[in-house]
Amino acid sequence: MAKRDFYEILGVSKSASPEEIKKAYRKLAIKYHPDKNPDNPEAEDKFKEAAEAYEVLSNPEKKQRYDQYGHQGLGGNGGYGGGGMNMDDIFSQFGDIFGGGGGGFESFFGGRGGRRTKKGTNLRVKLKLNLKEIANGVEKKIKVKRQVLADGVTFKTCGTCQGSGQIKKVVNTMLGQMVSASTCPACGGNGQIVDKKPAEADPRGLILKEEVISINIPGGVADGMQLSMSGKGNETAGGIPGDLLIVIEEIEDNTLQRDGNNVVFDLYVSFIDAALGASIEVPTIDGKVKIKLEPGTQSGKILRLKGKGIKDINGYVKGDQLIHVNVWTPKQLSKEERTALEGLKDSENFKPDPGNSEKSFFDKMKEFF
Ligand SMILES: [Zn+2]
Repeated sequence: MAKRDFYEILGVSKSASPEEIKKAYRKLAIKYHPDKNPDNPEAEDKFKEAAEAYEVLSNPEKKQRYDQYGHQGLGGNGGYGGGGMNMDDIFSQFGDIFGGGGGGFESFFGGRGGRRTKKGTNLRVKLKLNLKEIANGVEKKIKVKRQVLADGVTFKTCGTCQGSGQIKKVVNTMLGQMVSASTCPACGGNGQIVDKKPAEADPRGLILKEEVISINIPGGVADGMQLSMSGKGNETAGGIPGDLLIVIEEIEDNTLQRDGNNVVFDLYVSFIDAALGASIEVPTIDGKVKIKLEPGTQSGKILRLKGKGIKDINGYVKGDQLIHVNVWTPKQLSKEERTALEGLKDSENFKPDPGNSEKSFFDKMKEFF
């Protein structure tokens, strides 16, 4: 059976944020949960299918691979691409999705309710990339200072909330007594507080540690784009770590200009090379290549080097390099040069005679974009 698209399964777009993906999965997990659909194999399949899609799309590395190579990219080690997930895998996911230490699902099904998982703060770093790195993708090592739990930190049950993570208050209202619950300020809703910690750690049991984190940047990223690595942000006592957010900055190239997934190069050739034809070296993202200029090349012609552009972030395809030919008119002439050109002035072949093969600028634009 052909596998369905993960985005389609969760009903989100490819540009959906991690929050949106999580929300979409949560909805489906509740809808198809086995407790709500006993003896319904169809619901169980849907439940597993959604879990598998979420497993991949919630993991930046797997998501990148899936976006680039589809289901194939997940085969072999690591992915659940082959055999699907078993129920244990799925329920272990719920700690993250529904909060709470593993059993968080209960709060959605009328259980004891309440405890929320605390999450560390996110870290944000800027990453400068040149055109070559953007075009092909690159593995980068980033130095970050993260708050991590110090060795030897121990926890005890929070005395303020007795471990429930919530402070309940009975309020008298016009409609009668109501119980209002709020997050415990002492433990942040986590139910645990630091008991023992080494001297160098702060009151939360955290120390600042420099770490080198390796990240695979997919080809085709753009300025301002944000990649996120879940769990690589600041840690927090008794909770889950925040995320590391990587904001892409493009370093402008001196010779090649990016235009979506294409790169554009302005080539200047002499009038003589344009008339006689020539072999000319041009820069590309992957180094210099020689191109052949046909005799009689007009200024404004656009040559295309197929596949010499930038990888599409959502697939295999690569853009092209477009070479915009500009014929250079000499600005100064020596006496000899002037005489030589004057001798050709009335020559029939030098009179402009644009035919159908010379498309106007606007026609060319239409053809290319
Ligand atoms: Zn507490």
